Amino acid sequence: MADTIAAIATGGAVSAIGIIRISGDGAIEAADSVFRAKSGIKLTKAESRRMYYGEIIGADGGLLDVCLCCISRKPESYTGEDTVEFHCHGSPIVMTEILRTLHALGVRQAGPGEFTKRAFLNGRMDLTQAEAVIDLIEAETPAAARNAAGQLRGAVGTRLDAIYSDLIDVMAHFHAAIDYPDEDIDEFEMQVYLYLLQDAGEALGFMVATHERGRILRDGIPAVIIGRPNTGKSSLLNALLGYSRAIVTEAEGTTRDTIEERIVIGNITIRLVDTAGIRAARDAAEKLGVERAIAAASGAGLAMWVIDGSQALRHEDVEALRVLPPDIRKLVVVNKSDLPSALEDDTLDKLELPYVRISALTGEGMNRLEDEIKRILPDLSSPPDGELISNVRQADAIYRAREAINRAVTAINDSVTPDAIVMEIETALAAIGETTGKTMREDIVTRIFERFCVGK
Ligand code: GDP
Repeated sequence: MADTIAAIATGGAVSAIGIIRISGDGAIEAADSVFRAKSGIKLTKAESRRMYYGEIIGADGGLLDVCLCCISRKPESYTGEDTVEFHCHGSPIVMTEILRTLHALGVRQAGPGEFTKRAFLNGRMDLTQAEAVIDLIEAETPAAARNAAGQLRGAVGTRLDAIYSDLIDVMAHFHAAIDYPDEDIDEFEMQVYLYLLQDAGEALGFMVATHERGRILRDGIPAVIIGRPNTGKSSLLNALLGYSRAIVTEAEGTTRDTIEERIVIGNITIRLVDTAGIRAARDAAEKLGVERAIAAASGAGLAMWVIDGSQALRHEDVEALRVLPPDIRKLVVVNKSDLPSALEDDTLDKLELPYVRISALTGEGMNRLEDEIKRILPDLSSPPDGELISNVRQADAIYRAREAINRAVTAINDSVTPDAIVMEIETALAAIGETTGKTMREDIVTRIFERFCVGK
């Protein structure tokens, strides 16, 4: 018996239309107590997935709103439970009143992600789809949204289910070999299992290999602007923010104390980390800020190293470069191209890094800078339809599954006993099960849905 929950699904802001969602065994009855259909039909007798026009009446008998109502009977609803949606006028005051009226009838306020969690627990979607819901809502670029939509359709789950089913088959045969030790698995059969396992390992490996691109697509890439004072770092930052045609937001950085600003280049969100450090007064604190920023960007990050093209390279210029970790992607931004150049191409070539000449002051070269950034970052130009694994949790579990399969393949090649092979396949199955949610710890499920907003 599922208790009945309700929430405003459309957020707390004033809007033309606002949707209240109710789900649970008592959803239709509770909604029926507050809704009077113009046609006189009771919601308990209403058709599923049909809009009814009517009025919502408060506890005191007064009219709260004139709206549309749609019920979806279980199991064919988002949550798999009886569900009701009121499409009201988008007034937060009115919607809160309606919610209060529902609470008085024993309907509970839904927690974050509770509708989607119920959808998962009732088998309406697997965990990869549930996680795609939040990725779709939070997508920062059209490409990220498209990948999430593909995952919502089941792109990841479907592929994993096929692998899972193959592995179950193979495991069943090895189990049989354990149960009937006299009947050996013959050479030919063994070869077939080996191929099946190798295929599964390859397919999993392919999925893991998409993760870097998937992660960048979803989370963007952390970037820092470095260089000695007065080369034009703040000017470049402003030019980039002004240039960006897409969203520009200020957000809390990934590490505390860092502020980041975001721009979108191609399909990729570039998170300019610790822009506060660039803008701050030039003192010791700046240095600290830059160090923090570099730490935040290290790994898969991008560093734009700004030098002043109107002056010869100085010792401090090169010093700035030295603090960067080796694995960070580096791009030299030769600024002040509006002034006579003091840096020949030959000199820049010696740096053995990609470079681009721009003027942060006039905006000259910003298109080239964009092209160069696109060139050095992973290619995300073809629209991904869900095939990029964007979720770390999923990538980690798929990786573990692949490792176990590889060990099983080695075990077969080494003619190890069937029980050892079964054990590895079981490990792989458990890891795949974690990804889709077939086998899942409650605490992890709880953590996943805490990321959601209320009403989803
Ligand atoms: P930061 O110390 O590296 O952040 O450098 P700023 O962005 O504060 O710039 C230092 C000085 O260089 C300022 O006087 C800017 O106006 C000037 N500047 C920055 N970019 C350009 C450019 O492209 N051309 C010219 N001529 N001056 C620039």
